[in-house]
Amino acid sequence: MRIGVLALQGDVREHLRSLEAAGAEAVEIRTPGELNGLDGLVIPGGESTTVGKLLVKGQVDQAIKRFVGQGGAVFGTCAGLILMSRSINGSEQPRLGLMDLQVDRNAYGRQINSFEAELSIPALGKQMFHGVFIRAPRIATVGQGVQVLGEFAGRPILVRQGRLLAAAFHPELTDDLRVHRYFLSLAAGGSADRDPAMKG
Ligand code: GLN
Repeated sequence: MRIGVLALQGDVREHLRSLEAAGAEAVEIRTPGELNGLDGLVIPGGESTTVGKLLVKGQVDQAIKRFVGQGGAVFGTCAGLILMSRSINGSEQPRLGLMDLQVDRNAYGRQINSFEAELSIPALGKQMFHGVFIRAPRIATVGQGVQVLGEFAGRPILVRQGRLLAAAFHPELTDDLRVHRYFLSLAAGGSADRDPAMKG
């Protein structure tokens, strides 16, 4: 399994490490051509406005949309989630618009720009997942085709739409590989059939 990590800006190295630890071959991606032959792509956390502009400049945005059109799997964390969302409240910033999500940037409040919380994510098993949130986006609404895999404070924090996965938190900053493994199973086309919560 060969997974690319978009390496324009953000916490690229942490995702490479998590993916390798989960058993994938992980490579940095900066140009449209580098998407060829990938099973999946990770869009890391960082600054969504910066990454969005660079995506357009290098025409990597168009290449990612083609990749998804051909059945490629994509996993976005934090800024990656923002870039994958169709609607960003109060912002016209460039985006990929891959998932039927409406988000608010930096919406968990000024005093708690960053926080950690134990997350219940049934699709990953009974054990709680340690969630690291860094100036995280808050998902305001999700479309009908979006499955909410986990919530915190009444809001979705891990969502899936077909082979697209997005997290408001940063699993790559922990040693817990369950979210990355879940993504690898999506990229392999597997877990949807095995997990009863994934029907439909
Ligand atoms: N606040 C950032 C943004 O809006 C996201 C932060 C992150 O990726 N950790 O793009």
